[in-house]
This record gives sequence, C-alpha cells and structure tokens, in this order.
Amino acid sequence: MNSRKKAILLILGAWLLTSLSLAAEVIKTPAEETRYTRYSQHEEVTRFLSVLSARNPVLKVRIAGKTRDVENYPGRDLFLCVLTEEGVLEATALNRDKPTLLFIASQHGNEQSGKEAALRLIRDLAAGELRPVLKKVNVLVIPQANPYGNYFDIRQNETGLDLNRDHVKLEGESTKIIHRIFSLYQPEITMDIHEKGDDYYRVSVGCVSNLNIHRSLQDYSRNMIMKEIEKKLARKKITFHEYLVSEVLGMDTSSGARVVQEENREMMLRFSTTDLNDGRNSLGIYETLAFIQEGASRHDLASLEARTGWQYEGLRALLEVVAEHPEEMLRLVKKLRADLLTRARQRSGDDPVHLKMAYVRDPNQPQLELKAFESTSSNIRGILKVDKKAGDYLLADDIAPYQGPSRLKVVTRVEKNWFPLVESRLAIRRPSGYIIPADRTDLAEVLVQHGIRLQILEKAAQVEVTGYKTIEVVPARADYLAPEKLEVQPEKLKIPLKRGDFYVSCQQPAANLIPCLLEPQSEYGLIRYFGFKLVPEAGDYFSIYRIEEPVTLPLVDYKSW
Ligand SMILES: [Zn+2]
Repeated sequence: MNSRKKAILLILGAWLLTSLSLAAEVIKTPAEETRYTRYSQHEEVTRFLSVLSARNPVLKVRIAGKTRDVENYPGRDLFLCVLTEEGVLEATALNRDKPTLLFIASQHGNEQSGKEAALRLIRDLAAGELRPVLKKVNVLVIPQANPYGNYFDIRQNETGLDLNRDHVKLEGESTKIIHRIFSLYQPEITMDIHEKGDDYYRVSVGCVSNLNIHRSLQDYSRNMIMKEIEKKLARKKITFHEYLVSEVLGMDTSSGARVVQEENREMMLRFSTTDLNDGRNSLGIYETLAFIQEGASRHDLASLEARTGWQYEGLRALLEVVAEHPEEMLRLVKKLRADLLTRARQRSGDDPVHLKMAYVRDPNQPQLELKAFESTSSNIRGILKVDKKAGDYLLADDIAPYQGPSRLKVVTRVEKNWFPLVESRLAIRRPSGYIIPADRTDLAEVLVQHGIRLQILEKAAQVEVTGYKTIEVVPARADYLAPEKLEVQPEKLKIPLKRGDFYVSCQQPAANLIPCLLEPQSEYGLIRYFGFKLVPEAGDYFSIYRIEEPVTLPLVDYKSW
C-alpha cells in the first residue's frame, strides 16, 4: 500500500470513528447531567424530552394538560410520553395486539426518584438497550405528575391537594389528566411510582386489593408478576417485598382525611389500601393489572442516585415481565373487561358490588416475618473533612455526617398484627343505573372526568326508582370520611323525571366504580367529600336514585365529545 492510500484510509477511519461515536452519544437525563446533585425541574424535563423525541421517532410526546397558575409558581404542561415501535401518538393508532403499560411518576412531589427513574426509562426505551421491548409492549409514561410539588420538594400539588388521595373526586388537574389518559388509551397494566421511608426492602410493589376488582388480577399480580420482579431484582442484588402499610391497630387513614393517629398504640400491618382514591385501585377497578411501586428513600440528595437506581430497576423489571408474557396479560385483562360488561347486564344475585370492606387476619398465616434496619448505637459522630490535632477547635463545618452501613444492622422482626386478607362488610345487588338530578352538574362533571358515559333526559318521564329514606345519620368527623353512621331504608318510588336529569347506566367499563361512587352507604363514595353536600338529614331521601331493572327513557348522550 502506498503512502497516499494509507493516508486516505486513515482519514476514512477517523471519520468513521467520529460518526460512530456521535451515533452512540448517550443523551443524559437531567439528573445524570448534574450527577444527581439536584432534583430535575420542569424546564429540564421539557428540554430533555424535546431532544430525545427529535432524535428518536419511537418517542412521541403530547401535552396532556396543564397544572394551575398559582402565585408562587406558574402553571406547567403535563406531558404524556408515548413509546411505540410504530412511533404513533394517538390512542386509536396503538397496535392493540400488544399490551399497553402506563407509568405515572411522582404524584407526590417530594418523591423525586420516581420522576428521575421514569426519565431514565424513557431514554432507555427510546434510544437505549430497552428499545427491543417495544416490539412486545406499548409504553406510556407521565414522567412528572406534580411539577409544583417537585419544585418545592413537597408532597402536595399547587392547590394543596394530596393527588394520590384525589382519584375519586378528581379535583386536581393532574388526577383529571391521569384518568383522561387512562380512559383514552385503556392500558392493560399500570404502575404508579412513589417513595416511602428508608427500608431494608429497596423496592416494594403493591397490587390491587379492592374486592370489586376480579380476584384473578390480584392472584396473577402476586403469584406471577411480583414473583418475577423479585427474581429479576435479586439478580441485581436489590431487596424486594410486596408493599405493606403499617398503621395503628383499628385505624384506616387511607382516605386522606386529616385525623390524628393516636400515638403509642399497638400497630398493625396490611397490604395496600382497598380505597379507590389512589392511582392503583382507581385504575384497577376497570379490571386492570394496576400496581404501585414504593422505593425506599431517605429523601435527601445524597441518596438520590441510589434510590433512582432502585426505582429504575423496579420499573424495568415490570416492563420486562410484561414483555415476556404479552399475550397472556392481554388475554387476561381483555377477558375480564368483557366479562364485567356481561356481569353488569346479568346483575346476578351472587355477583354483588362491595361497598364496605375490612382488613382481617389469615388463620393460615397468623404472623409475618420481615427484615428491617435497626440503628445500632455507635461512637462515630461523623467524618472529619479537615486535618485536626489535639487542642484544635472542632467546628460543625469540619464534620460530614457518617452514613456508613455499620450504624444500621439488619434484624428479623415478627409482626403479630398481620391483616393480609380483605372481607366484605356491605354489598348490594348490581343496579341497572342511577338517576342524578339535573341541578347536580357538579356530580355529573366528576363522572365525566372519570370517563364514565352519562346520558340526559330529553323530556320529562315517569320512572320507578329505589329511593333511600334516611333513618339515622351521624356525620363524619372530618372531610374525606364517610358518615360515621348512615342508616337508610330503600323504598320503591314512582317519580317524575325532568328534562335534563342525568342517567348513569352501569352497563359500561366503570360498572364496578359507579355504585362505589354513588351509593349513599359506600365508604368509597362521593358522599364522603363535604364539598358535594351529599349527606342527607334524617327523614330525607338521598339525592341520587337507583334504577334496579332496565328502563326505556328518552335519553341522549351528555358531553360525548
Ligand atoms: Zn407517595
């Protein structure tokens, strides 16, 4: 080879190397860019998603809504990232031969690692090693559900709402958006990402627990999906446990009501709440494989990289399990959703809707063994950052906190108050539908936000309904709680309906949700929010009427656009 040819080859080689390294250039997430020294904010998320989607057509981003403008923080766009092999954005364009998986990150603003992990997952799906997974699964991600909470590093949103207690009344912009996206895209699997306190178990995942959700979803989640997640995480040396909630024995604070837990009382342990007000059961009630992930967290910047890593591996494990069993999951959910419509039509006496539930012990498993961290007493006060000798002043700034592992030892705890089961305490036969008076547009609006199909009467009509006569009522101690006591007498009534009255049929995908929201005695219902003023006086009828048997009414769809 002559020297001229050699020179050409060298130049060619150099050019090739440069182009290869450009092509392989990894787009860093905002947290990676700052080496996890601060929490990434909305502006950085926007820039990151702009660059990533510009370079990778499998990622499409839509503005799904906007948070509210408040004095100390302007309204921010809420993003939905749609990741598909086909590079589509619209729900109608999704390839429904694949299951669709929705991730929701950081509804609680101070649970920052959910958002950082979600952004990493989006990047690895769009441009990294997870991309082949899109052959098997459509992935939707709401990467930052609470920009205000992220900015101020607080749990609540810009109007002071705890978004993960808002999935029944849908007051927050973010919760409205989550439900709009859910009803539009109908994902079969969902994962709502959170953080809890520091824990030996770095990743916890909880599945559906409300009794109205078909039992097979809970069993499949626990016995298959979570077992697989645990195995995958074990390979990465990440400890896992099904998500457990510890609470004062005899109390249930999952409604989000401001009630004070008595201190120094005996504690109990159970699986995650049966309530429908969170991002898990509120989607699970549509016969969805719905999950919550809770990452262990010290909520400080020093641990941000580690906890983002644990969260990421948990999300990735679920994603991979779905990609390994796509047909199975699709079939399971499709069948249960179709069955629910049939059950809603048949209204069989042995297929009721459950309105009150209780956590109970399992005689076959009276107690639970758990591993936990225990602080050991240590003489170590901190680590010296500067050289000192005897007689020198020691200043606070000279010492860095000691975070070594030896202060925490792993112990095994035996939990005696273990309540793993759920029992029904009140059930009713499935109704055909409900009548809501025309002047209660506030209630109608909430149902519309849930994606529930509503109809209105075009003209007046007579109809036989069940009315609830109130016998005795003891109001709740706090907003968000069902009345302490509400005794009602169902009565058959023939009532005149007005033009504009609303009719809610239970023959729709929300068949299980509708009675839970509208029944007066439901502990999951709209009645528990003071703002709706639904609690009747003794002697009065409840403002919503039940229709037992199918009726023909002069109906048109309400706001079906
Ligand atoms: Zn949370």
